[in-house]
Amino acid sequence: MTSGPERPAEFETIAELFRPLTGGAPEARGLLDDAAVLPSRPGQDLVITKDAIVEGVHFLPDDPLDLVARKLLRTNLSDLAAKGAEPYGYFLAVSWSGRCGLDERAAFARGLAEDQARFGIVLLGGDTTSTPGPLTASVTALGWAPHGRTPSRAGARPGDLVLVSGAIGDGYLGLKAARGELRGLEPERVAALARRYRLPEPRGVLARAVRDHASASADVSDGLVADLGHICAASGVGAELQLEHLPLSAAAKAWLDHRADPVASLADLATGGDDYEIVCTARPEHAEALIRAGDKAGVPFAVLGPVTRGEGVRVTHAGAPVAIARPGWRHP
Ligand code: ADP
Ligand code: MG
Repeated sequence: MTSGPERPAEFETIAELFRPLTGGAPEARGLLDDAAVLPSRPGQDLVITKDAIVEGVHFLPDDPLDLVARKLLRTNLSDLAAKGAEPYGYFLAVSWSGRCGLDERAAFARGLAEDQARFGIVLLGGDTTSTPGPLTASVTALGWAPHGRTPSRAGARPGDLVLVSGAIGDGYLGLKAARGELRGLEPERVAALARRYRLPEPRGVLARAVRDHASASADVSDGLVADLGHICAASGVGAELQLEHLPLSAAAKAWLDHRADPVASLADLATGGDDYEIVCTARPEHAEALIRAGDKAGVPFAVLGPVTRGEGVRVTHAGAPVAIARPGWRHP
């Protein structure tokens, strides 16, 4: 082994840092077996999602590892919420890089412990390696939903309404804030946006309403226009996204106030990634129930426009079409 922080052995990491994260769940077998064993639940579907992160791509090389771990878990929880599933357990693959000594690994595990407690999920297994390259990690998250009730991206029909939860654009502004590229806003607002980028809020509180009332649903990770586009493509429909109805945080409103071309800037917010909200469609009579549920949960839904015949997302502002250069983030 070469210099750098003291590198603990694989099995110490598993026993000391990861075993406590199982919360004693019998399925995990104390992280001492070849596999976890999950009993089935009659009448329920197991909903499974996976998200990976790479240092330098999904997080900045000096980001603290407790926040990195929490964001990784949260991006997976966001997918479960969009599918109307209740969190159950997760599997973690991590490939430690040279900067990951015992302190960094402990910070990573501490972050996981904090969000596990907050969102009600436990570690069930995984794999541990190290790499000469950048730190990478991936989570496979499992959730339960009543059988046959998980909304897909393919259920939108003309006449449905498009809804989105929470606020859009804080991911876009938060990345700028985290990179120190956001000027003209008060320091507290910049700090709040950077925090929101590093620590998105998965919308598990909306999972039940989504599975009860949405005709199609997706989480907003690539950018609202792109993710709504995925629903349109899967459903064989079009949609109109009315930018004047885009729900914004107070910080995003303050940013917009200083922009020379507010409509173009609204389009930037609608195409930036990392919001981790839920975009969904619903028949008009179900949209009311979704809105009531969102208000009750403290995460309101906004109605963005109609699902239409045709294909693709038509972005408008006060009825006029708005040109979109790039609907969202794409890996090369
Ligand atoms: P294998 O030899 O089959 O790869 P391992 O020795 O890697 O098995 O894993 C032993 C046990 O430790 C398994 O229960 C596995 O799920 C668990 N484990 C290994 N790495 C992790 C991790 N990063 N997070 C959670 N559990 C882990
Ligand atoms: Mg292994």
